[in-house]
Amino acid sequence: MEIRHGINMDRARALFRREQDRFVESMPRSKVLSAQSGQHLLFGVPLHWMNDWSTPFSLYVAAARGARFQDVDGHDYVDFCLGDTGAMFGHAPEPVAEAVAAQTRRGFTTMLPSEDAAWVSAELARRFGLPYWQFAMTATDANRFVIRWARAITGRSKILVFNGCYHGTVDDVFVDLVEGQPRQRDSLLGQVYDLTQYTRVVEFNDLAALDAALAEGDIACVLAEPAMTNIGMVLPEEDYWQQAQAIIRRHGALLAIDETHTISTGPGGYTQAFGLQPDLFVVGKPVAGGVPCAVYGFSAELAAHAQAAKRNAPPGHSGIGTTLTANMLAMAAMRANLAEVMTDAAYAHMIPLAEQLANGLRERIAQRQLPWCVTQIGARTEFQFTPAPPRNGSEAEQILDSELEQIIHLYLLNRGLLITPFHNMMLVCPDTRVEDVQRLLAVFDQCLQELHA
Ligand code: PMP
Repeated sequence: MEIRHGINMDRARALFRREQDRFVESMPRSKVLSAQSGQHLLFGVPLHWMNDWSTPFSLYVAAARGARFQDVDGHDYVDFCLGDTGAMFGHAPEPVAEAVAAQTRRGFTTMLPSEDAAWVSAELARRFGLPYWQFAMTATDANRFVIRWARAITGRSKILVFNGCYHGTVDDVFVDLVEGQPRQRDSLLGQVYDLTQYTRVVEFNDLAALDAALAEGDIACVLAEPAMTNIGMVLPEEDYWQQAQAIIRRHGALLAIDETHTISTGPGGYTQAFGLQPDLFVVGKPVAGGVPCAVYGFSAELAAHAQAAKRNAPPGHSGIGTTLTANMLAMAAMRANLAEVMTDAAYAHMIPLAEQLANGLRERIAQRQLPWCVTQIGARTEFQFTPAPPRNGSEAEQILDSELEQIIHLYLLNRGLLITPFHNMMLVCPDTRVEDVQRLLAVFDQCLQELHA
């Protein structure tokens, strides 16, 4: 008998086979669409990751609204994945849908600013505390541009990231710490440059390592989530950021904070909630209500340096921006989202509800004496297969268990509840109700009972 994370895995595997059969039986239309897609979509899906869910074939969505969606076979779901944050404020929020509908009659993209640009940038400045802003289509792009700005401004070549980080498909960040040594992530396809040449990596929550890695004075910027969210959640220790920021400044490096996920903390992100003072600030995914868009901000001092760097560069391509960046459709969506959806009131609903979810999960885990823990960052909650929350990326990685995750995820999905794949993350949105959370807790409990009995 194999016991892992307090679970009898033989029993869990039998349950998984049963759940796979149940999925296949109840999804005839998704099955047909999957077969059809297999004829012309490489890997049978529009993006190869879409094969990495727990389902035997893809679940096809018919429509998504608020906290809910319906699949093509007519089943209803409460969505706690919410597009892995892209729909953190609900699917197609009404004000965004209206703004987008109105903009469709006024044009999508001209490579010129629309009136929304001025309003949006002023709101970003008010909300996040950085005075100057630029745009991108995705958080990946925003991070790539931020790295480029940081290198251009400081004249330094290297960046520093935390082990286990994810900042999108930005090549520079795919360097792990393996037995104390930097190592390029070997899953990266088609990467021929030695990324360890220009990327240094240290463990999160290790101030001495950060200090040592910055000591050579060649790091342009530290790119970081304020709390790690992509290898399972890892929270900063008390006082960590205050000290880390002082170290980063002392070594003349810039701090670029990526709030793409931690925007779950509150309307101004973790940065405002905890008084961080980044030089550069990124948020993507939900910032335009799920319409592709990302933003990045500059401190006043850095903005002056950025302008000087551009002024002093020869004319021609900067390597920053894409043709559709800051298109009029995205700007209209972002304005509506910031003004009417991503509001203080929305967070005032979401955060206590996530707290209920986190506490409910803790209770159920404790009742079954499982060695698991639950972490919450505002509207974002995650259960992890360890009794004590991990302190860094290495610890977090060790407890990832994709097999067990998939079993639990499929069990929930077959009962109309979707949580985020690749880890155990759940988001609540303004449309999520107390009853939805109660249902998730009840089905989670039922799943534990079947796994654990
Ligand atoms: N930053 C963080 C912290 C992320 O979690 C992600 C995506 N999970 C990204 C950036 C990249 O976002 P996108 O895939 O939308 O470019």
